[in-house]
Amino acid sequence: MAADMRFHLHNFLHPTSHSDSNTAAGRARSDQLRRLITEGTPTPRIAILGAGAAGICMALQLLEHGISSFTIYEKGERVGGTWRDNTYPGAACDVPSHLYSFSFAPKVDWSRKFPEQPEILGYLESLVSKYNLGNHIVFSAEVTEAVWNEERSLWALELSSGATHEAEVVVSGLGQLNRPNIPQIAGLDTFTGTKFHSAQWDHSHDLHGERVAVIGIGASAIQFVPQVAKLAAEITLFQRSVNYVAPKPDRPFTRLQISALKNVPGLRQAYRSSIYWRLEFRFRLMKKGSRLGAMMQRKFGEEVSKMASPNLPTEALVPQYTPGCRRILIANDWYPTLLRPQTRVVTEGVSRITSTGIITESGEEIPVDTIIFGTGFHATDFLAPLQITGRDGQDLNHAWKEGARAFLGLAVSGFPNFFILYGPNTNLGHNSILFMIEQQVGYIREIIDGFVTKGVTSAEVRERSMENFDAEISAALTKTVWNEDCSSWYKNSQGRVTNNWPDYTVAYKQRLAHPDQRDWKTNTASQVLDLE
Ligand code: NAP
Repeated sequence: MAADMRFHLHNFLHPTSHSDSNTAAGRARSDQLRRLITEGTPTPRIAILGAGAAGICMALQLLEHGISSFTIYEKGERVGGTWRDNTYPGAACDVPSHLYSFSFAPKVDWSRKFPEQPEILGYLESLVSKYNLGNHIVFSAEVTEAVWNEERSLWALELSSGATHEAEVVVSGLGQLNRPNIPQIAGLDTFTGTKFHSAQWDHSHDLHGERVAVIGIGASAIQFVPQVAKLAAEITLFQRSVNYVAPKPDRPFTRLQISALKNVPGLRQAYRSSIYWRLEFRFRLMKKGSRLGAMMQRKFGEEVSKMASPNLPTEALVPQYTPGCRRILIANDWYPTLLRPQTRVVTEGVSRITSTGIITESGEEIPVDTIIFGTGFHATDFLAPLQITGRDGQDLNHAWKEGARAFLGLAVSGFPNFFILYGPNTNLGHNSILFMIEQQVGYIREIIDGFVTKGVTSAEVRERSMENFDAEISAALTKTVWNEDCSSWYKNSQGRVTNNWPDYTVAYKQRLAHPDQRDWKTNTASQVLDLE
């Protein structure tokens, strides 16, 4: 009982760390691992795909536990993943800054309550230099194919350059939002003005005095549109779906606050925990039929419809779906931007694009100089276009043709020694994704430990465990607002919610505290350990 209470207290005070960290048992396991490695026990070669937040987290936790036999393959020329790519004006995170760092490597001096892209990228880069990760990263190295070799218990990797590598373990840190979606609109190629996607911002292009069109209004657009509107002569927003946009309680920290959060013992941890729990309770909104959601919908509608005018119709302001079905956005400058005389909101779709403008579905031609796509990412395709061939020639993209699914979001039966960070059904609508990544990394690392401590050569999730998990997730998803009637990147074309975790993150943390041997089929060099 006392031990149990300690567990709960630890988790309450340190809600964001993985359960195995800072515990006596975890330290003992780590010490044993280090001792074996020092005595010469070989460690597996680990290929980490992507040097974004997930890949960096995996690498740091391996190093922390004495494993350095890993390589990070990064297709770009810089680390940072989504925070390297998304440099659009106004790019920021809607998770408060003191929660947006790893519990084991916190940033103690955030400059404001909600972090902006340069500061987050700086944080990730600082981790790479502080822990000398640079020696482990190969840049301009996109892994295009991974093929499992059953006989040798390893993955053969091929890079876009044609180079080949081998690794016993592969960990994907590719994430869900790495491939920009530019819709195939008729005539797009004929447009003679400038066009670019929000994740590929053309900083060399001056938008001053231009007629700008933005196609697609989601989390990215509500951040860059207010900035673009300050420069453009006219801005036309093609907003097919309306968002709930709530106030953003953002401001810079004062020097005193920064100093206190950095220096007063326990203060930063208490602040971080309070942010976590505050966000965590918002999961209530994601549950179908929540009274809080109904109240928010009513109040939001009443407030926002007051802004309606002939130029800004109610349908451009008030969503008709339950809050949370699409991501709830936060900004203070969104509605003031909509009210500017230079802003026009078009709620109908785009019919086609000409050399000089955009033709709406009702046939109106709107001349524009620049088109910016705020049309999001190929979020439900997950690891594609990477070709992954597992045991018995199974193709992962084929296995996922009706929607990606994975045990705990991180492993797929038939694909031994292959782990996914921020995989299917691990995205959130209410809390920090770094939290989820940290739990996954702790769990995967414990499996990798077994390669050293138990001589494991391959670990594969059992099909039955995967099916049970899938059934559980599918049932839980029916109780969330995400499968209600709205369009969102959480669903694939068949309407399956492939991206989101349908529970509190505390529940996810508990599930990922330690791998349960009953879920895993493990081979060692000489035998198959069937622990069922
Ligand atoms: P998004 O939320 O998926 O929004 C894309 C928008 O483009 C949607 O409103 C969609 O409308 C529209 N669209 C797509 N194809 C279209 C077409 N052919 N014609 C007209 N409209 C079209 O993408 P995002 O804004 O880039 O954000 C993606 C995710 O990135 C976010 O949800 C969030 O997780 C992350 N993000 C996070 C932050 C943060 O602060 N943490 C900031 C930015 C982004 P329909 O819905 O009608 O299809």
